[in-house]
Order: sequence, then structure tokens, then C-alpha cells
Amino acid sequence: MKQRTIAEPYKIKMVEPIKMTTREYRAEKVREAGYNTFLLHSEDVYIDLLTDSGTSAMSDRQWAGMMLGDEAYAGARNFYNMERAMQEIYGFKYLVPTHQGRAAEHITSQLRTKPGQYVPMNMYFTTTREHMERAGGIFYDCIIDEAHDPQSEHPFKGNVDLNKLQRLVDEKGAESIAYLSIAPCVNMAGGQPFSMENLRQVAEWAKRYGLAIIFDATRAVENCYFIQQREEGYANKPIREILREMMSYGEGCTMSSKKDNLVNIGGFLATNNEEFFIKAKEMVVVFEGLHTYGGLSGRDMEAVARGMYEMVEDAYIASRVRQVEYLGQRLREGGVPIVLPVGGHAVFLDAKRFLPHLPQEHFPAQALAAELYVDSGVRSMERGIVSAGRDPVTGEHRRPKLELVRLTIPRRVYTNLHMDVVAESCQALYEERDRIKGLKMVYEPSSLRFFQARFEPLP
Ligand SMILES: *Cc1c(COP(=O)(O)O)cnc(C)c1O
Repeated sequence: MKQRTIAEPYKIKMVEPIKMTTREYRAEKVREAGYNTFLLHSEDVYIDLLTDSGTSAMSDRQWAGMMLGDEAYAGARNFYNMERAMQEIYGFKYLVPTHQGRAAEHITSQLRTKPGQYVPMNMYFTTTREHMERAGGIFYDCIIDEAHDPQSEHPFKGNVDLNKLQRLVDEKGAESIAYLSIAPCVNMAGGQPFSMENLRQVAEWAKRYGLAIIFDATRAVENCYFIQQREEGYANKPIREILREMMSYGEGCTMSSKKDNLVNIGGFLATNNEEFFIKAKEMVVVFEGLHTYGGLSGRDMEAVARGMYEMVEDAYIASRVRQVEYLGQRLREGGVPIVLPVGGHAVFLDAKRFLPHLPQEHFPAQALAAELYVDSGVRSMERGIVSAGRDPVTGEHRRPKLELVRLTIPRRVYTNLHMDVVAESCQALYEERDRIKGLKMVYEPSSLRFFQARFEPLP
């Protein structure tokens, strides 16, 4: 039987009008922005799929909670609400709030890495690797090879390759490893999940060598949905239980609340390690704010606390991930090359197959993102050679196998008709792909260059 439609488990109470613009207007705006979608003004964007970070629509309950912000400097009521929610939903003992995810990464990297140590990760994430390298750590990719192949339909492309971990220990010794950084729904691989079975094996392996797992838990709930749908033994388990089991294999996590937690700003570090918690509290005071607010206002912490309970409701997470699947389905029907299977938060256009006439040093994904904006006012993001940056040792471009354009779906924000507009625009561009030209980089920041780099079209 055909899968029945699941509609959104909410209705719309307030709307925000968005601007419709002409093609000529957008061509001018993208030129002014140096062909970098990060440099566009959001009011010139029609459908904003730049990121799902901090772009979620909050519920009436979260907004109501914001009116209950306790803006005391120390020990605000909302901190304790957030702490209790984290303990109930994620299951860790100690909470350090931060203004967003990268602040938790900063603290964790500085406190848990000795210069020259390796940090194995299931594929890199931009800010995570940057903080790791600033702390003197060396990124070590331990994701399965299938993750680097946009045409592999492996159901758990976020899995860790235990042979790669073993090789590192055999060659360098377990003491050369700081900790394992494990990310659910791996962003850079296309939002691909790992299986609980794989995580269990990784946890056993880590225990053997006395290594801690610190999750980048940013998209853990979306990963839990895939486990529920795809992994034997989980079909009837509530998402809330699956998340608790997943987190139980780690010592703690860093978290960007701007994703799963359904808020516009916030993050945290959580851990069961008391010694680390004490040091993290000392450090958060220097860089973020007192350990009971970490750069957040009381009302923000309240919204995070309420968001944590909402994100694990089964109907919510099903409709969230299925909207992403819907866009993927429409693109496949239109013959547009995308990364398969479709991930939990975004659909990724495969720019290498979309624009086979462009060499990677002409920035095909960057060029495609700019063209998509001009065609329909849809804003997307490059995830390819620009995002990968340069090798800190050789200074050469890193050349990732994946050269992608990310269409990221904000939570609870757009309807499936918006998704149809996006799919039609991608299809129209695919039909006229031969005319799309590459770019040259004319300004390059020294780190995280994709945010601010500027480009000009090649003749
Ligand atoms: C967004 C994100 C981060 C960084 O979090 P911010 O809140 O943007 O600082 C870290 N890891 C992953 C996987 C992310 O998606």
C-alpha cells in the first residue's frame, strides 16, 4: 500500500510576508554579493534554504515561555528548566549553556586536545574542525567510504569505519587520540545517519582503548528518525527513547540548539565527566558568560528547554524529515542529480554531475548556487571546494570528492508548495545547464572562507 500522507502536526497562527523580485533585480544583487549567497541581504531572498540553523519557527508554547524569562545574572529559573530538560531528554548529568554550538566546540577542543593529537570524526564539519585545529589537534576522517560517494544508496552513510579507527591506533597508538567526535546525520555527507548498531560497535571499541565519545549532537533527533524507520528493532520505539539510547554511548556532547532544539539562538555542552565540567565552567566564564547563562538570556534558555520536548515528538520529526524527502522526490522525478539517499535536513544537488563541463577549480557548486538565486530567488549554499578550504600544511585547496549545493529546509517554516517552486527552478536550470559558466575567486579570507569569499564570473 502507498505510504499515507502525514501532514504537519501544527497549524499556522502568524505569517511573515516574503518579497517577490525580478530576474534582473536578482542578477544585480548576486553580482553585488560577489556571487556568494552568504553575502545576499535576506530581504532580497524569496525562499531561504541557506541553512536550517537558527531559522526554525518556534511554537506558541516557546514564545509564551519567552515571556517568562528570568533575566537575573546568576541562577536564572530558565537555566534550571534547560538543565532539567537536557537531563531528561539527552540524559547527561552536567550542562554548560553557550551562545551557540561553536562556543561549546571551542571549550571542548581547548580542554580535551593536546597539540599533535588526532581527533577522529565521521567526516569533518567546518567549525568543529577549525576549533580542533586551533587547539593543535589533527582531524582524522573515520567515516565509511560510501559517504564520499554521492551515488551510493547505503542507508547509513554516516557510519564509522572501524578499520580506519583501528589503523590509527595501530600506527600511532591510542594515546595519540584526544577523543572521538561522532556526529549524527553527518552534515557534510548530505545529512546522512549512522545506525545504532554501528554506534554500539564504536562505543565498544572506544571503551577498549579508554577513549571518550563526544557527540556533535546537533542533528541527533533527525538521525533517530532514520533509525526508527530503517533499523531492525526500532520501528516501534518512540524517538525520545531512541535518543536516550544513542546519547548513552557517549560521555557528553556539544550542541547547536539552532538545529534540533527549534530555537533561533543557543547551544550547550553536556557531559557526565565531572572534572571536564568543572574546567568547562571556568572557561565559559571567560569566553561566554556566567556558567548559568553562557551568553544566553533567560528567555532564550526557556525556549531551548521547551524546544527539547517538542523535537522528540514523533509526529513532528516525521513531518520534518518527510518534507525533506518530498523535495528530494520531486527533484528525482525531474531528473536532477542529487545525493542519495536524501538526508535529514537538506537535499544536496550534485554539482559535479549537474555541471560536468566545469572543473572543480572553477567552483561549480558556488556557480550553481548563484544561478539558482538568479533563476527563482531561492537561496542555497555551496558545500564543495570553497567550504573545504585549504590544507593548513601545504596551503593547497582541499579537493573534496563531493561538490554539492545544499538546499536546507528550515523547521516548520515552508510548505510543500514552496518545495515545488524550488524543484521547478532546479529542473529549469538543469535543462539549460550547458550555458552555466564557472567563477574565479577574487577575495579569500584566511579561515572559513566560504562565509565571506567573493567571486567573479569567468568569461
Ligand atoms: C551548525 C553546526 C555546528 C556549529 O553550531 P553553531 O550553532 O552554528 O555555532 C556544529 N556542528 C554541526 C554538525 C552543525 O551543523
